[in-house]
Amino acid sequence: EAFLARIDRLDGRLNSFITVTAEQALAAAEVADAKRDGNEHPLLAGIPIALKDIICTQGVKTSCGSKMLDNFVSPYDATIVEKLAGSGTISLGKTNMDEFAMGSSNETSFYGPTHNPWDLTAVPGGSSGGSAAAVAAGLVPAAIGTDTGGSIRQPAAFCGITGLKPTYGRVSRYGIIAYASSLDQAGPMARTAEDCALLLETIAGHDLRDSTSVARSVPDYRAELGQSLSGLKIGLPREYFGEGLDPAVDAAVRDAVKTYESLGATVREISLPHTHLAIPAYYVIAPAEASSNLSRYDGVRFGHRCDNPSNLIDLYKRSRAEGFGEEVKRRILIGTHTLSEGFFDAYYKKAQQVRRLIRQDFVDAFEEVDVLMGPTTPTPAFDLNAKKDPVSMYLQDIYTIAINLAGIPGITVPAGFAEGTEGERPIGLQILGPHFAESQLLNVAHQFQ
Ligand code: GLN
Repeated sequence: EAFLARIDRLDGRLNSFITVTAEQALAAAEVADAKRDGNEHPLLAGIPIALKDIICTQGVKTSCGSKMLDNFVSPYDATIVEKLAGSGTISLGKTNMDEFAMGSSNETSFYGPTHNPWDLTAVPGGSSGGSAAAVAAGLVPAAIGTDTGGSIRQPAAFCGITGLKPTYGRVSRYGIIAYASSLDQAGPMARTAEDCALLLETIAGHDLRDSTSVARSVPDYRAELGQSLSGLKIGLPREYFGEGLDPAVDAAVRDAVKTYESLGATVREISLPHTHLAIPAYYVIAPAEASSNLSRYDGVRFGHRCDNPSNLIDLYKRSRAEGFGEEVKRRILIGTHTLSEGFFDAYYKKAQQVRRLIRQDFVDAFEEVDVLMGPTTPTPAFDLNAKKDPVSMYLQDIYTIAINLAGIPGITVPAGFAEGTEGERPIGLQILGPHFAESQLLNVAHQFQ
C-alpha cells in the first residue's frame, strides 16, 4: 500500500509505469500474508517489484511501449514471471520503455517519455528507463529490465541504481517479446548488488521453453558477497577512456578504481582492439533480427489492426504503418535491407564475423585479468529532446553494446554525480566479467557499496 500510494503521488511527474496493477497486487499481498503464518515462506515473500512492459503477464496488458500492442493482453506468463511469483514477489505493474526496446532514452515510447527522478529535465536512459526511474524514485524496491545492447545498464547508470545484464542464456527469454534474439537477456535492477543477487537467483536457470537457455545449475549468488578482493586483477580497457568520454565520468570511474586498489586489487591497462566496431556490428545485427521478429505484427492474429482494410495487403501495410513508430520503422528498413539478396554477405555476414572478433577480445582479456572496469556511458544522463539524430543516440551505447555481442555479463553500480540543470545526475561504473561470472561481479559491485 505504501509503494502504491507513492506511485500515485509521484508517477504523474515521472511516467515510469504504463500499467499499475494495484488491485491484483493487493490481492496477491493478502495471499502472501496469509501464507506467512506458516513456518515456511518463499525467499522474496511480499516484496513488491515492477516488470518492464516487454515481459508477458497473463491477463495484464503487455504493450512493449508500442501502439502496435496497446490492445494486447497476454494469455500466458513469461517464465521469469512464474519464477518471480513462485518466490513470493508481488508485481505492482508494468514499466515504461522505448518502443520494442529500441532506444537509449525512453523517448520512443508510445506512452510518452519517462523523466529522470534526479533531474526531471533529463532522460532516464533506455530502453528499460521506466524500471530504472521507478526504482530510483522509490516507487518499487526492485524491477526487471531487459538488455539487448545496454538497456539495463545504461538506464541504471543514468538513474543511480544497480543493474545487471546476465550472461546470454542464463535467464529464460520465454515470454519476453523478442527484439534481437541472439542478444536479448533479462536481468535485475535494484538499489544494491545484494538485491540484484536475490532477484537473479530467482529468475536464472534452464528452461525447456527457451532453447538458448543454458543447462547449468544456479549458484547461491549471495554466497560470495563479502569475499575478500585482495589480489583481484582489474583491467581498464584503454579504448573505454578515449575521446568522447565526459571528464566527470572519467574522474568518477578512476576514483572508483582507487577504492578497489585500497581493497587489495591490482590494476592494469588492457586493450579491446575491436571496440570501435561494436556499434556498427550491433546496428546491423540487431535490426536484422528485429526485422525478422517484428514480421509477426501483421494485424491478423493480435495487435493493432487498421480500420476497413480493402484487401489483405492493405491490412498488412496500414496496420504496420499505423502501429509502429519512427525508430521501429527505421530498424525494420535497415534490417530488411541488410538481409536482402546481394547485401547479406556484405552486411550481415560481415557483422557476424566482426562479432566473433569482439568476443575474442574479451576472452583474451580475461586470460589476463579477473574483471574489466570502465564507464557505463560516455556522459551522465542527457537532456530530454537533446538527441534528435539517430546516430548520436546510437553512439550512447559505445561501452555497453560489445558485452551483448560477446554474451558476457556486466553490472553497473552508482559511482558519483555530475552537475545537471535541475539536480545532480548520477554516474555509473561498469564491471565486466567472463561468461557465468555473475557471482564474482555481484561481489565486486557489493563491496563498492
Ligand atoms: N540502445 C540500444 C538499441 O536501441 C539498446 C537497446 C536495448 O538494449 N534494448 O538497440
